[in-house]
Amino acid sequence: MSFEDHVGDAFAEPRARGGRAPDVFTPGGYVPMRQYDDDEEVDFAIVGTGAGGGTLLCRLAEKGFTAIGFDAGPFFRPLEDFASDETEQTKLYWTGNRIVEGNDWLIMGAKNSGRAVGGSTVHFAMVSLRFRPEWFKARSKMGYGADWPLDWREMWRYYEEAEQALAISGPIDYPWGPKRPRYPYRAHPVNAAGMVLARGAEALGMAWSPTPLATVSAPRGKSPPCVYRGFCRFGCSTNAKQSALIVWIPRAMAAGAEVRDLAMVGRIETDRRGLATGVHYRREGQWRFQRARNVVVAGYAVETPRLLLMSANDRFPDGLANSSGLVGKNLMTQPNQAVFGEVDEEIRWYKAPPSTTVTEHWNYDDNKDFHGGYCWMAQGPLPIEWATVLTGSRGLWGAALREEMTKYNHMVGVKMVGEAMADERNRVTLDEEKDDDGLPIARIHYAWTQNDEALIRHALDQMELSMKAAGVRNTFRQEQDANHLGGTARMGDDPRASVVDADCRSWDIGNLWVCDGSVFPTVGGVNPSLTIQAVALRTADRIEQLAKRGELCRRA
Ligand SMILES: Cc1cc2nc3c(=O)[nH]c(=O)nc-3n(C[C@H](O)[C@H](O)[C@H](O)COP(=O)(O)OP(=O)(O)OC[C@H]3O[C@@H](n4cnc5c(N)ncnc54)[C@H](O)[C@@H]3O)c2cc1C
Ligand code: SF4
Repeated sequence: MSFEDHVGDAFAEPRARGGRAPDVFTPGGYVPMRQYDDDEEVDFAIVGTGAGGGTLLCRLAEKGFTAIGFDAGPFFRPLEDFASDETEQTKLYWTGNRIVEGNDWLIMGAKNSGRAVGGSTVHFAMVSLRFRPEWFKARSKMGYGADWPLDWREMWRYYEEAEQALAISGPIDYPWGPKRPRYPYRAHPVNAAGMVLARGAEALGMAWSPTPLATVSAPRGKSPPCVYRGFCRFGCSTNAKQSALIVWIPRAMAAGAEVRDLAMVGRIETDRRGLATGVHYRREGQWRFQRARNVVVAGYAVETPRLLLMSANDRFPDGLANSSGLVGKNLMTQPNQAVFGEVDEEIRWYKAPPSTTVTEHWNYDDNKDFHGGYCWMAQGPLPIEWATVLTGSRGLWGAALREEMTKYNHMVGVKMVGEAMADERNRVTLDEEKDDDGLPIARIHYAWTQNDEALIRHALDQMELSMKAAGVRNTFRQEQDANHLGGTARMGDDPRASVVDADCRSWDIGNLWVCDGSVFPTVGGVNPSLTIQAVALRTADRIEQLAKRGELCRRA
């Protein structure tokens, strides 16, 4: 059998079966994996194995629960499947049909979703930041959005647990927010693009920092240190990146969890008591039903409400967990606008992870005439990505585009991650059109609020000032871009105004949970995945406590 035959095509057929699953650290290797029968009632069926679902699957298995993680995407072997090729790597995205509409309709696929064991963390940019404490009480402390039913001090503990598990490489002292322990791994060296951000921030009197990143700066177990080849957003082929695929999933399987790849869940079943009984899923062309005592939805902010809405039945005609009418509503993305320009010195911004420096200055300066804040980060787009920015933002094409691309190694830029406001009009609903599985596709409506527009204007002005102060010339703005999703199954402490409680348990169905980016009541002005993982760690602890008290399926 040749090496290629042995490895096979990740999309052709499931790789996790027959009591084994791919060993992501060994070419062609497998690790043993426990396997459950459809008829065997497991403690947890978790839909989605990304930042939220992968973390929860691991911790629940480690606590002794029987659990299966379903993912519609394949089980990749990074060492064999990932090429240093932007086009090839589009295989990581969720590219199924969706209808996008609204004044500021969202670009899906590469921008906002992953479809793989490990979810979007397989191709995320690894920026791992904690929320500002006040954001957990944005309504009561800062006058906008909604409060989280969580206390930041408790979250601080879970952030630390997540940072340790992911071996975050970061600075000794992070300049913003309450004191925190030093990051487990030393910060990565700052690349030339990151130095330009630092120059600009210093010229304006703003603090900056090496970016805390989920890629290791020194060997860790079977992960080699990052080699700064810059393909992070297209799948790291060395396993330096600490994605859910290489951190949580191997741990989960070692603790007895099963992972079902290429398994699309199309419906959650409920019984006469109104409790969830399991999931209908399609694998290898067949619809099957897995029995489970609890179901967790962790499909991210579009697929999670889609599944809850698709599971409507006579008892829950508006979809599951939807007595508040809020499933699918309050969709938030994060403004991701940028300012780019040229310098004389050679930069080669593709070298290293895309962002090696960050400033959170505007998250902590509250003298602004709009709500919320933002950070900005150094950039390092790869060539095709960069050409797309030039065609989209400057309308360049043909010879003009070719000419501009010759400056690639002298380009620099910074990009914001901003806090968009929740608005019920921004939402996910079901369309009449069906996908290949015969399931209704998602219709996604999005428009910036006036507050968002003010925040974006402010950020673009400040980023441009900083670029110019750093000696960058011929600057231009990327006016429209968005990344990261949240909000379509928000948590809260009032069943009329939220979908799940602080433990991520749905108010309506005692054994139905949501554990992913969709539970965010506000999105804050930093990247979300560390918070998603910290919330999942907390949820696992809470589930353990509830189970001990016999309160898993019913509320006290
Ligand atoms: C290009 C890019 C760069 C990013 N960079 C960063 C960054 O630097 N820092 C950061 O914090 N965040 C970043 N993010 C965002 C981050 O990756 C996501 O916010 C996070 O992964 C979301 O976690 P999740 O658990 O909600 O969903 P995901 O991690 O997306 O996991 C959801 C999983 O559910 C599966 N699924 C969905 N529906 C079903 C179904 N019905 N049946 C079976 N499986 C299903 C999907 O296949 C997917 O694998 C980035 C995202 C992208 C796209
Ligand atoms: S720069 Fe580091 S994390 Fe990114 S793809 Fe290369 S080795 Fe992986």
